[in-house]
Amino acid sequence: MAFMRPLGNTGLTVSALGLGTVKIGRDKGVKYPNGFTIPDDKAVSDLLAQARDLGINLIDTAPAYGHSEARLGQLLRQRHEWVIVTKVGEEFDNDSGESRFDFSPAYVRQSVERSLKRLNTDYLDCVLIHSDGNDRAIIEQGTLDALNDLKKAGLIRATGMSTKTVEGGIATLDHGDIAMVTYNLQHAEEVPVIEHAATHHKGILIKKAFASGHLAEHIADPVQESLNQILGTPGVGSIIAGTINPAHLQENVAKARRACSEQQ
Ligand code: NAP
Repeated sequence: MAFMRPLGNTGLTVSALGLGTVKIGRDKGVKYPNGFTIPDDKAVSDLLAQARDLGINLIDTAPAYGHSEARLGQLLRQRHEWVIVTKVGEEFDNDSGESRFDFSPAYVRQSVERSLKRLNTDYLDCVLIHSDGNDRAIIEQGTLDALNDLKKAGLIRATGMSTKTVEGGIATLDHGDIAMVTYNLQHAEEVPVIEHAATHHKGILIKKAFASGHLAEHIADPVQESLNQILGTPGVGSIIAGTINPAHLQENVAKARRACSEQQ
């Protein structure tokens, strides 16, 4: 499978590796193994330029990632060259360090309008519900329908949910375009969602491919192993890998390309 590939039947073409942007917007309430400093504007601009030069066209953000959306709105050049994924439903309060959730259709519209402003754009490529874990209940309360209405109105190109359960992931694919699921060397429980996507030509984005930085120590090259396993699974569209380290970004793209070419 090539490095650039279709994201299900959304009509979007994405790089097999996308850039996750939690660490450019927020340093509280995160579970990374090491502390870090949020990079300054120059470092973020350089990272975005490096990602584009390496062939990445997919970027993942969310209102819950602190200043991430607003910083991308300021610093992302050539917006039309990027596929932007953002989310609705979770808000992170930096003072208390806690998240709160609102999945009501009215809030969905408000949140999408705010994301459009913050990201300095008139359309969003993918908007996913940022689930609190109650995937089925969220779908039943009409949140995905509200996103699908915004898609009909032309504000969004594809809809879905970042899920935490297999049944929620499958229901998301049946009612929307994309599920974002956790998949890594230590967590393969959600593979049935990926198989459902492969059968029904739906989109799959992978989160936490490197176990949020808790890479297995007993494996010689856990980054390559992770990428080989995930990109070797039919149905996977792209891995959203978080990094603010230019050397890691370069390594990850080289190894993702290797994982893709091994399957051609
Ligand atoms: P991840 O991509 O599995 O891991 C990111 C961590 O791995 C970072 O701390 C990064 O540190 C480290 N890393 C990256 N490349 C590395 C390499 N080559 N060698 C060693 N360490 C490396 O996990 P994540 O950040 O939790 O998730 C990725 C993205 O998915 C997020 O940024 C976000 O966009 C999305 N996400 C979504 C949800 C959701 O509910 N929707 C939840 C979690 C994440 P350095 O910065 O030092 O490289």
